[in-house]
Amino acid sequence: MPALSNSTDIARETFRQLASRRIPPTPENYHALYAEISGQPVASGAFPEKEMRRLVDTIRQNAPGQVKLGRKLSEAIDNQNWDILELALSEPLSLLENLQHLAWGRLINELVRQWDNKSTITPGKKREALERVLEGASANPSALFSRLEGMTRAWARGEAAADIPLTDHSPSGDDQKAAIAATLPASPVEPAEHMGKTADLLPEIREMLAYVLDNCIAPLLNDHPALAKDAAKLGKEIRNATALKQLEAIKGKLKRFTFRLSLAIEDQVELRASLLQLLRLIVENIGELLQDDQWLHGQIAMIREIVEQPLSQRALDDAETRMKEVIFKQGQLKLGLQEAQNALKNMLSGFVDHLANFSDATSGYHDTIEKCARQVSSANNISELETVLQEIMRETRAIQYNAQQSRDELQQKQRQVVEAEERIIILERELAETSHLIRHDQLTGAMNRRGMEETLTKEIARSERHELPICISVLDIDNFKQLNDSQGHTAGDEALIHLTRVIRDTLRPQDSVARYGGEEFLLIFPGTSLADAASVVTRLQRNLTRRFFLYQNQKLLITFSAGVAQLTLGEKQDSAIKRADAAMYAAKKAGKNRVFTVSPDGSIG
Ligand code: GH3
Ligand code: MG
Ligand code: MG
Repeated sequence: MPALSNSTDIARETFRQLASRRIPPTPENYHALYAEISGQPVASGAFPEKEMRRLVDTIRQNAPGQVKLGRKLSEAIDNQNWDILELALSEPLSLLENLQHLAWGRLINELVRQWDNKSTITPGKKREALERVLEGASANPSALFSRLEGMTRAWARGEAAADIPLTDHSPSGDDQKAAIAATLPASPVEPAEHMGKTADLLPEIREMLAYVLDNCIAPLLNDHPALAKDAAKLGKEIRNATALKQLEAIKGKLKRFTFRLSLAIEDQVELRASLLQLLRLIVENIGELLQDDQWLHGQIAMIREIVEQPLSQRALDDAETRMKEVIFKQGQLKLGLQEAQNALKNMLSGFVDHLANFSDATSGYHDTIEKCARQVSSANNISELETVLQEIMRETRAIQYNAQQSRDELQQKQRQVVEAEERIIILERELAETSHLIRHDQLTGAMNRRGMEETLTKEIARSERHELPICISVLDIDNFKQLNDSQGHTAGDEALIHLTRVIRDTLRPQDSVARYGGEEFLLIFPGTSLADAASVVTRLQRNLTRRFFLYQNQKLLITFSAGVAQLTLGEKQDSAIKRADAAMYAAKKAGKNRVFTVSPDGSIG
């Protein structure tokens, strides 16, 4: 085909090819095809300001929609901003897309044929009719197809189409599905049956998006109430949107929302990092300041450990449980310590009062003796001296009695002070020991009963929330008394520590271990089925035989019997522990060193 130079010819050829190649007549497609036919390269890179202004000039500015579009496009060109341009074009484009399903190819083909058809209708009349149709379409773009179709039919009948019939072509439900599917960034040559399936998936995806916004994102935005409100609102709008136009509007809102959300998320990440940094700083400084307060060191070491690792809910829960326990114990001890210190203070002030009284009494005695001395020197006869002597003796006896009494009392107070001081030393030592318990609250370092109850409550709630199974296992060391009797209590203690270590190494990080009784342990397996939990316990059994317990250079074999139960929905932890316990006893009865499971009805196997 010879190269076309006339722009009208190129435009006509572009229309013809759009129709024959069945390409949707979007501005981009038109532009690309025009460039291809004219042999000009498609503009890329720099903002094509001149071309854009020429394009805007072609928009008729005699309907409110057109004026608005023209203004928006000019604004985009002024700012050389593609985003504003996209927003400005999104509405008319959506209308275009809405109409894509209509047989534009066939219509344009027919239109061009009738245009070239040398009938009784003059080209001037044809242009006039076309202009009228296009003008009418500026107020009501969705009617363009039917009006153009009416006009073309009229030309075919040899009429100038002064009065073009308006055929209703408002899109049906299926047409709309196709139009929506066409808005997806899919391959332009997607087969029709795929388009149908894609469209069928859309309501489901839309519902999921609405759910994520309304139920997942909004509750996470506690610190951004306005954003949370917008998320919930957007969720509702997405759910209620039925028309393509509504979805188009939501697309813009969603775009703006995700941008604001990404900013908020960045803020939160930064905030968390600063908060952790601050906590780290405080913890380090407190640690240095509290050299003498031994009893706080455990807590501080634990917080330091937590902030230095990646944050995990489980580590925080575990820390909370241990912290609560230690705070409770320390609270009790501090109360005792305070009482002892108060008693000591009272005794010391009594002691000071007594000393004051004693010195008052002795100064009275000195005054009397001085007075008597004066009387002695001025005495004229024996009888006068005798009276003075008697007075001196009386005073001396009184002061002697007083001194004796004071000495007894003071000795008693001194004994009490020593006792109080001893009690304070003991209490302070206990307080320091509880701090140690925060991380090694038991011989084995496993959770204790209280910690176990709290963890189990949390894990059961979590499993129910996520609709996941949860299992527990009760295990009891076999013949432990015999080990204690033959090797001594320390060997027994170390065997318990060894078992706990092997349990920890075998279980996954999300599983928990608690020392339930003397040589009984309880294992918690969140998100695990009965069969899987039983196989973990069996693996533990194998690991324990491989990693024998070494005591004073002797290899000692430790075995256990275990019962495994899966919690039924709504079952109380006590009931599940009872079932697992019964299975463990059955394992003992069956010869020990085995793992039994128990079903919800209590049958053991
Ligand atoms: P079975 O196989 O039937 O379980 O027998 P067993 O000997 O393991 O069980 P039994 O209940 O008869 O004895 C448990 C022993 O565990 C008795 C107790 O002294 C000992 N024990 C409990 N707590 C501790 C502890 O903390 N350290 C030590 N060394 N022994 C403990
Ligand atoms: Mg036992
Ligand atoms: Mg036992």
